[in-house]
Formats: sequence, C-alpha cells, structure tokens
Amino acid sequence: MSYGTGVTQCPHCGSIGTYEIRMQNGGQVITCQNCRKNFTAEVHNGQFTGRSR
Ligand SMILES: [Zn+2]
Repeated sequence: MSYGTGVTQCPHCGSIGTYEIRMQNGGQVITCQNCRKNFTAEVHNGQFTGRSR
C-alpha cells in the first residue's frame, strides 16, 4: 500500500528528498538519499508532517 510520495528533510545532513509514503499515520523509517543514514519521518493522514528525528 502506498500513499504516494512526499518531501521531507533528513535531520542528519539537512538534505531534502522525495520519498514514498507507506503508512497513513506513524513514524516511517527512511534511508536518506544523500548521507544514507536512517531517520524517522512523522506521517499524518498519508503526508509527511515535516517532523523528522
Ligand atoms: Zn541525510
């Protein structure tokens, strides 16, 4: 199930990337396209909230 794509920012390197959203609500683990570190992006109603940790 995909909720489409969204734009979010990596908290490690600050890089902004487009990622597939795979959940409606929760914390989605993403591997940064730039620094390859993992971070958790908060998702609400199938959209990134912009809060990442
Ligand atoms: Zn990064």
